[in-house]
This record gives sequence, structure tokens and C-alpha cells, in this order.
Amino acid sequence: MMNKKCLLSLCLLTATASAIPALAQTAPTEAAPTAQTPGKAKNIILFLADAGGVSTIHAASLLGYGEPQKLRIQQWPNLGLSETSPVDQYVSDSANGMSSIVTGVKTRNGVISQGPDAIRGRQDGTPTKTLLEYAEERGLLTGVISTQSIADATPAATYAHSNDRKTWGTIFPQVFSPRFGDGVDVMFGAGRAKIGEQLVAAGTSFDKLSQVHKRPIYSTLDQVPATNARPIVVGNGMDVHAATLKALDILQQSPKGYFLVVEWDAHTDDPREGIQNVVDFDKLIAEVERRVDLKDTLLLFTADHSFGLQVDGGRRGEPLLEGYEAWKAAPKEGDIVRLKNILVNDTHTAEEVTALATGAGAERVRGYFPNTYLFDVMMKAWGWKPDAAVHK
Ligand SMILES: [Zn+2]
Repeated sequence: MMNKKCLLSLCLLTATASAIPALAQTAPTEAAPTAQTPGKAKNIILFLADAGGVSTIHAASLLGYGEPQKLRIQQWPNLGLSETSPVDQYVSDSANGMSSIVTGVKTRNGVISQGPDAIRGRQDGTPTKTLLEYAEERGLLTGVISTQSIADATPAATYAHSNDRKTWGTIFPQVFSPRFGDGVDVMFGAGRAKIGEQLVAAGTSFDKLSQVHKRPIYSTLDQVPATNARPIVVGNGMDVHAATLKALDILQQSPKGYFLVVEWDAHTDDPREGIQNVVDFDKLIAEVERRVDLKDTLLLFTADHSFGLQVDGGRRGEPLLEGYEAWKAAPKEGDIVRLKNILVNDTHTAEEVTALATGAGAERVRGYFPNTYLFDVMMKAWGWKPDAAVHK
């Protein structure tokens, strides 16, 4: 059933590249005069809006600014549409979606950075090497930040390998046993209570991990002393705005560059929360953009999968979310949220999500492509070749 050869990333990457031959060849010379020099990135920041599809980004501009296309990311010069499916279905979860982006290998829903030979909850697949691992191997500083549990599928796909996204008790400890380099340098996320419970069930704890590996695991950003160059915070929530700026203070010291992944939840099962999250994320991204040098830094925004939100009504000057308060107060039943101007089918959806990019190496982001191509974009921005052997 499975072509064994295609478990090799090289094979997948080659197939990906040949499916979109025009990209690499034409972008550098035929780009618009305003485009930046194609280039080499020293640093890459991947902004991941979890479930932040095209319609959610559109709604965020309407909610935040009362007009379409007012977000900062909507001003970026490079746009592509990234296809998110797992190998055996049309609709992706966060585990497959993020694993595909950071390893260049599509897999199955529920599986964290292992190949499609994994069987969820039953059998490990081939570990697939992540961008964070490549960066660690080459001596860059690395960071992972999330509004969500730091052991949940999206952040986990950057630093862990597991056949089941639910096994937080064995996923989180992988922070301390990296396969390459010294592992994640800066980690700020949420999920403390539930990760803590699962660590205990797995025979360990935050305290034990801290002691054995001589790395404190703080519960708030404020507890991190200025002297700690490799801080880990697992809180019961996370101010991702403050966390990202704090992480940049550390990562921007790196002589060899850095790789930073920032995830912000954008599920719109609660439409106001989800859409406002994207408005806030965009403001953070604008702030980060002002702090980096786009000549040596690639900024990439995408989503792991889309979501069933539609703006199907509304008038300029009137509230987009009319009826939200009444909906919020009412008892919930079924998967459909019906506001006056917004319809949400509370589920992930299969259509492509945006990939938006600016800075060094951004010119490769254009056209329709599978999400695994974004791995290629980032590796090429750094000027690195994938190491096929480790995918065996
Ligand atoms: Zn997701």
C-alpha cells in the first residue's frame, strides 16, 4: 500500500518541487521591482494561527478595522495557498497539519512528527526530522510559544515525536531529550495543570524533570530571571504577546540565527474569541516585523488547517458580531453557530489556508502547494538541504 521509498523526505520533497516547477526558477529574477532580494535567511519566525483559514483572516479584518484587507499580514508581498490534508483523508487535525509543515512529510491525523507508517495510539512510525531539529543541529537558538498547551499537537510537532497527540505525559519530557543540539532553548506555553497530571501518570513530574535536567520549569513569565538564557514556562495560560517579545530578547542575541514558532489559537467555535485572536495575533506580528531585519529574517504566517466559518451578511459601519451576546447566553446544541452575519460550522475544513510571507526567502511563497512545501521554503531560505537519511 505504502511506497517505502516515499517515506524518505527527499522523495517527497522532490515530488513536491516537480509539482510546482515555476516557483524556484522564476521568482528571483521576475519578481516585482519592490520585492526584496531573494535570499538567505539567518532567522525564521513561523506564525501559526491554529484553524486560521482564509475566511477567519477576512473576518478578523472586518472585526478589527471594519473593512476587508486591513490586517498587517494582508499587506505582505507573498501569498500562497497551502493544502493541509493528511495522507488518508481530506480534513486535517493540528497534529498532521503542523507535522507536515515542520517536517515536509504528510502523515495521519493524531500523529506527531512521525511518518504515515505510524498507527495512531498503536504503533510508532518513522520519526521525521523537524525544522527545529535542523536548527538545533546547526547551532541556532530555537523557541516555541503557544497560547495553548505546550504539549498539544501544534507546538509538540516542533520538538516531539509520538504516534498519539494525546500522550502529553510522554510528549512533554521530550523537551529534555533532544535528538539534535541541546533542544528547545525558549519555551513559553500553557497547559500546566493537565500536563502536570499526565506527567504524574507517566511516573514523572515538572519538579522531577527540572531537577534531573537542571532546568527550572516556571509557571509564569514573571518568574524567569534575567540570567536564564534558556527559560521554560508552562503556565495555566500564556500571554503570547509578552512571551514573544521576551523570546526575541533572547533569540536575537544568537550569532548563528534563530528559529521561532509562535502559535495562537484561532478556532472560531466561539466566534468573537476566535476572530479577535487573529486581530491580536496580527498586531503582535506587526510589532515583531518592526523589531527584525527583513534582509536576514523570514516571517511566515500560515495555519495548520481551516475551519467552518463564513461571513454571509453584514453592512459597513454596523457590528459584525450582532447577536453574539444572545448566542453566548443561550444553551448550546449542535455544531452550528448562527449569528446575524456569521455562520460557523464548528469543525475543521479541508480547503487551502493562506501562507503569507515577507523577508528573506519569502519570494518562494506563491501559487497553490501542499503544506509540505512550506518546509522546503524554510529550508531553502536558510540554504539547507534536507538530510534524507534521518527520515528512514
Ligand atoms: Zn489545529
